[in-house]
Amino acid sequence: MKLPNYVSGEWKEGAGAGEPLFDPVTGEELARISSQNIDVKAALGFANSQGGPALQQLTYRERADLLAKVGEVLTANRDEYFRISLLNSGATQADASFDVDGAIYTIKYYAKIGRALEEGKMLKEGAVVPLSKSGAFVGQHFLLPAKGVAIFINAFNFPAWGLCEKAAPALLSGVPVVVKPASPTAWLAHRMVEDIVKAEILPPGAISILCGSARDLLDHAGEGDIVSFTGSAETAARIRSNANILRRSVRVNIEADSINSAILGPDAAPGNDVFELLVKEVAREMTLKAGQKCTAIRRVIVPRPYLTSFGDAVSVRLSSMKVGNPRNAEVKVGPVVNKAQQAACFEGLRKLKEECSVLFGGDERFQPVDADSEKSAFVQPTLLSCANGLDAKFVHDFEVFGPAATLVAYDNPEDLIAVTRRSLGSLVSSVFSNDAAFLRNIVLGIGDLHGRVMVVDSSVGAQHTGHGNVVPSCLHGGPGRAGGGEELAGLRALLLYHRRFVVQGPPSTISDLAGMSADASALYS
Ligand code: NAP
Repeated sequence: MKLPNYVSGEWKEGAGAGEPLFDPVTGEELARISSQNIDVKAALGFANSQGGPALQQLTYRERADLLAKVGEVLTANRDEYFRISLLNSGATQADASFDVDGAIYTIKYYAKIGRALEEGKMLKEGAVVPLSKSGAFVGQHFLLPAKGVAIFINAFNFPAWGLCEKAAPALLSGVPVVVKPASPTAWLAHRMVEDIVKAEILPPGAISILCGSARDLLDHAGEGDIVSFTGSAETAARIRSNANILRRSVRVNIEADSINSAILGPDAAPGNDVFELLVKEVAREMTLKAGQKCTAIRRVIVPRPYLTSFGDAVSVRLSSMKVGNPRNAEVKVGPVVNKAQQAACFEGLRKLKEECSVLFGGDERFQPVDADSEKSAFVQPTLLSCANGLDAKFVHDFEVFGPAATLVAYDNPEDLIAVTRRSLGSLVSSVFSNDAAFLRNIVLGIGDLHGRVMVVDSSVGAQHTGHGNVVPSCLHGGPGRAGGGEELAGLRALLLYHRRFVVQGPPSTISDLAGMSADASALYS
């Protein structure tokens, strides 16, 4: 089976033998993809000339209604998405739900909140600015949907959510999307696009998919286009520095890798409920999606006196979780996505072991349940410990994109802040403590280098949304090495797909334009 590309309003098979997609448990080939000989310039042109104008003829409310219909189609096909997640990603039910249900929830969320923008075709931002003494000449800021294409280049670990969390705000803004899913897991995104196209909800050109290499896609991006990239920092640097992107000042949003942290306060001694909450969260973060989440906890920064008890408590939880073939109902932890990722995890763990001791796991030859270790791509959940966080290098710098985390000891709040900041910019840090002064000090010390800080005390208990869980109502993205991007945060996500401009002129023209605009203040509520 070779998955065809959907470009220029048609399904087109790429040339050549194509690239194989595998089952990471059995090693079996599932499908092939190819973008060879696909005219990507024409694909962008079609999306721009057909999809954009058709979407922008509609109001925000009408586009929100389209998203609601897309949400219904995806819900109707949910079982099939779980099947593909199991086959192509080795996902357990919980892993598949995180990606697929997260995707459907995000689409439905934007369908719902998009209605707040009502009937406008652009957005009026802020008050009229007086520019003359008589009042005959004034200014008004507006946000106009970009007359270009949203180009998504996505990572392998969220084939469903990665598509939907980007497509929802782009389509709501009236901007057509061209998605290039990561090759290893392209099948799920492909199937979702196929279902959306078959349902004939969106106008021609509103959604396209290119599977396989991105080839020269970025060389054809224009001034009105938006590139939204999710993936490794290394690929991000290549995207950012593409000559055409630089020459045309194409807007680029980058969501890259991140050495996230979780912090235990000095007040949270072993036995304390907050201590137990963090133990549970670390074990969950290490094992859900086999640790292949950009937001997963990579460093757990713990008061030195509690290091041993904390490590023991996490290890007890990990030892009770079966790792293996997700078709076995007892299995809680699946494989990483393929042999190449397995090799990358092993290499990363070898680096971390140079400056850390292993508290749990770390055996490259461990035997997964109901799977052949030669053919499959499992990594044993591995907990490490680092005694000297200030001098360590790899712990703060090297992302093992699998079921691994490192405990790092700290002695005082100053060292804690310095150690946390060594990630040089992260998506998320969570702080577990009941000490209000400590919490305030830490948030002020690290907030600028993080997109999200999650605070958990006894009053929150188990009601928090999860360290690694990205909710569409809150910001996702982080500064520095995390890419510097911003996504979601409710209707703020629409800012990426709009251009701000100011009209200076007579009040009559301004009020005429304002009359056909929705109020941008809804974006910030
Ligand atoms: P990757 O190797 O950087 O690939 C990401 C995407 O870029 C893929 O679609 C890939 O296509 C494409 N690509 C590679 N080279 C390209 C080029 N020269 N021009 C255009 N596109 C190119 O990352 P990955 O292995 O898929 O994903 C894992 C990484 O993503 C991890 O580091 C993780 O932390 C990060 N991530 C970050 C977030 C976030 O929101 N911050 C979310 C998820 C994952 P092919 O697959 O065809 O090579």
